[in-house]
Amino acid sequence: MLFCGAGAAVLAKVKGFDVFLSDMSPIKDKYKEWLQRWDIPYEEGHEHTAELILNADEVIKSPGIPLTAPLVMELLKKGTPVISEIEFAGRYTNAKMICITGSNGKTTTTMMTYHILKEAGLNVGLAGNVGQSLAYQVATQNFDYYVIELSSFQLDNMYDFKANVSVIMNITPDHLDRYDHKMQNYIDAKMRILQNQDKEDFFIYWNEDPIVTKEIQKREPLRMKLVPFTGKSLKEMGDHPLTPGAYLKDGKMVVDLVDQVIDIDVNELPLPGPHNLYNTMAATISAGIAGIKKEAIRKALMSFKGVEHRLEKCGVVDGVQYINDSKATNVNSCWYALMSMKTPTVLILGGKDKGNDYTEIEELVRERCTALVYMGLHNEKLHDFFDKQGKPVADALSMREALEKCRAFAKPGDTVLLSPCCASFDLFKSYEDRGDQMKAIVAEWEKVQSKE
Ligand code: ADP
Repeated sequence: MLFCGAGAAVLAKVKGFDVFLSDMSPIKDKYKEWLQRWDIPYEEGHEHTAELILNADEVIKSPGIPLTAPLVMELLKKGTPVISEIEFAGRYTNAKMICITGSNGKTTTTMMTYHILKEAGLNVGLAGNVGQSLAYQVATQNFDYYVIELSSFQLDNMYDFKANVSVIMNITPDHLDRYDHKMQNYIDAKMRILQNQDKEDFFIYWNEDPIVTKEIQKREPLRMKLVPFTGKSLKEMGDHPLTPGAYLKDGKMVVDLVDQVIDIDVNELPLPGPHNLYNTMAATISAGIAGIKKEAIRKALMSFKGVEHRLEKCGVVDGVQYINDSKATNVNSCWYALMSMKTPTVLILGGKDKGNDYTEIEELVRERCTALVYMGLHNEKLHDFFDKQGKPVADALSMREALEKCRAFAKPGDTVLLSPCCASFDLFKSYEDRGDQMKAIVAEWEKVQSKE
């Protein structure tokens, strides 16, 4: 019995359960086709039928439904197990699970890890927030490895699932509205990725993260093998290498896994910026643990193109590089984007502000930006904060208007960066729509330019 998730319904059916799927939203055609093919009854587009759901022996809940939803609370009160799709799928596979969580960097690290494993010839599936449903893949494929991006919402309803390799990129405040506005609740959800790990398993984490390191201390001694990574150089660490672990040495990223040491020139790494160094370290450690050798990892990294809407180069017009970082919907991710800029930058920021404090990027904007374009319905806060820096600024109510203003500000050799610090919903359907519009306009300009 299920609330949502056609993939979980298919696996439940294949395993012989009496399944029913209930979704308050309309179900996409692709998923309806699965339900029809496996002869699974469902309801959609209206309130869940309470008596059906309350009679279930077990409920697989979509991560989008909060634990405080009245029906979920009622199920829990009755003692009905409510689990996540990943928990359910984990029961029916012996594949090795590489699971990645964190407040920022999940998708990039997951995609990079998957790319390395696949390029190295491993039989690997991609699942979780990216890729296809894990349950559907378990029902229809036979992978040896899965690389899984896990949100805190998925982790909330995981109990017996075990990650062979767990990764926590970082923990900073996010989604607190779903955690009773208590940071510790959100932290506890993220740390669930470690539950059930044993001495043959691995835990990869960012050594500088104050929250993660404190949580580790609280839990010591931990049974699994710890593999930290740091942006510090061996010198900064007083010549005490992390073994096992990843760090910098003489301009190289060094990943020491005891049985092999992988070192790659930082200039050869596929993606720019300090945050992507961390993402690359985590992906390289995971790949090394999966037994992939240095040369294969290096080769795979060279062909990794990054993930759409994350510092994505989308074209050069009049000698100006345009970069789409539409996924930067908070101030911290814009900070990392600005840290990655190597040329004077015209920055597009603005949109739906989630209570942002721009102090974090104030200095970087002063140092690295030559002009600012505020793209949003309400730009007053941006004017109040940044105009005093005395740079040229402009307002825009559409992507085309924003890009035209940037084009007028930028000089050959500059970069135009969309890294808006804000959600997109005031002017766009989604962050993907915002990034796609930018890419389409830049492509159009490039085409005109090539004809001239
Ligand atoms: P997530 O899936 O956790 O949202 P993404 O890989 O999609 O993470 O990256 C989202 C944004 O977060 C990127 O545009 C980038 O600016 C920033 N980011 C990426 N990796 C990291 C990291 N390791 N630490 C901090 N910020 C990051």
